[in-house]
Amino acid sequence: MVGRALVIGGGAAGLQAAWGLVNAGVEVVLVEKGAVLGGNLSHNKYLFPLREEAFKVLGERYRELAGSTLFWLMLGTEVSAFSRKEGRFEAGLARRPTFIDPARCNLCGDCVKACPVEYDDPESPGLGRRKAVLRHAGIPEGYSIERSRCPPGCSECAKACGPGAVRLDEGTTETRERFDSVIVATGIVPYDLRRLTELGYGRSPDIITGLEFEILHRPDGPSGGDILRPSDRRRPATVAILTCVGSRDEKHRPYCCQVGCMNALNQAFTVKERLGEDADVFVCFTDVRAHGKYYEEFYRQVRGMLVKFIRGKPSEVMVDRDGSLSFDIFDTSTHKLLKLRPDLIVLEPALVNAAPDLAKLLGVELDREGFFSLDRDYSLPVKSCVPGIFLAGTATGPKDVVSTMANASVAALAAVRYMKTPRGQ
Ligand SMILES: Cc1cc2nc3c(=O)[nH]c(=O)nc-3n(C[C@H](O)[C@H](O)[C@H](O)COP(=O)(O)OP(=O)(O)OC[C@H]3O[C@@H](n4cnc5c(N)ncnc54)[C@H](O)[C@@H]3O)c2cc1C
Ligand code: SF4
Ligand code: SF4
Repeated sequence: MVGRALVIGGGAAGLQAAWGLVNAGVEVVLVEKGAVLGGNLSHNKYLFPLREEAFKVLGERYRELAGSTLFWLMLGTEVSAFSRKEGRFEAGLARRPTFIDPARCNLCGDCVKACPVEYDDPESPGLGRRKAVLRHAGIPEGYSIERSRCPPGCSECAKACGPGAVRLDEGTTETRERFDSVIVATGIVPYDLRRLTELGYGRSPDIITGLEFEILHRPDGPSGGDILRPSDRRRPATVAILTCVGSRDEKHRPYCCQVGCMNALNQAFTVKERLGEDADVFVCFTDVRAHGKYYEEFYRQVRGMLVKFIRGKPSEVMVDRDGSLSFDIFDTSTHKLLKLRPDLIVLEPALVNAAPDLAKLLGVELDREGFFSLDRDYSLPVKSCVPGIFLAGTATGPKDVVSTMANASVAALAAVRYMKTPRGQ
């Protein structure tokens, strides 16, 4: 065995880095703080620009990893302590309880049927309902219990569970483990759009982010793949998609989010594909950045679906007493002031570092945009300032999937080279 590596984060980058390491003979512990793998793509059914299924791309990686004796997955887990000595690392790994033992669970779902608690799904407000037992349909499929929702003394799920997988008294577990190298793949999250008060996010259930659009309208989601607006479960006749929300904006995030334009096109495609002529779709943009392979073709394909493009930014989104939405927008390509009254508004937000606190714990610097900072060695764009800690995927800044995967493969190679080199710093 070449060594033992810790991969932090189980999105596309973490999975690809782990796969590279395992194939090079490295034992890998992958810690993911969420309940499933896939990160931002765990809800995204179809990827731009070619509309491949995200589950297919990530699922293949996971299946290969799960079959390896060198791979250990810890879901619901975060790094709680960290130290470095003589070029090697010791990490505390804190695992939150899921209250269901995955080794015993046969995924039958009887616990969900037996659970008496039901409430509005906070991830798909207005469209979905949840039980206190949650089914995670991602990679890997599994169940967990939100104990804070359980009434005192209830154990209906445990009684219904044939194989005895429910563990209602499970607590947090913490282990200390040693590693020869670390890969940070903690990714990106949307900027808090409540800071852009003028766009109305948080004031209407019908103003949502691109990620929320993916969650609400995925084919196996709460609407069964139909495009419904959260406030009244009706199909929207007009959808407005706004790009650069908080991005390229000195008051918020000055940099480009890299994927917002393509996400807007992808979501416009989804609406048009499912609702056709029944829905008018407007994409309000600063300039469409279609700079990757097949991106320009995809842009043309979406234009061909009669999506309307307006070059400009809305001044302010108005939410009327009856919940209806409207905004004025000056189209700088036609020099016309337009008024739109959309039924659904989708905002493509700035993207920010998902784990700035982890940087402090690991002793890795952040750059001026708040992402994990690369060492200025451009020949190896995955090196952090700490020898032996490498950075993969969007932890260093937004990227599309192809760049994320390529970058994560380089991080795995760099970690292998580090582990094969005599140390002592
Ligand atoms: C809404 C949306 C749609 C997109 N669609 C496309 C598309 O169609 N095509 C395309 O090319 N690109 C797309 N992208 C870009 C794509 O998401 C990224 O390229 C890719 O997902 C980045 O993977 P990642 O692993 O770097 O980060 P992420 O996907 O963010 O994954 C990071 C993982 O790390 C975990 N994590 C975070 N902090 C910690 C911690 N402290 N401890 C443990 N785990 C942690 C997170 O829970 C997450 O699972 C999209 C981006 C967004 C936001
Ligand atoms: S009833 Fe038991 S075996 Fe079935 S899904 Fe629930 S925990 Fe798993
Ligand atoms: S203990 Fe009761 S409320 Fe909690 S998950 Fe089980 S059945 Fe549902």
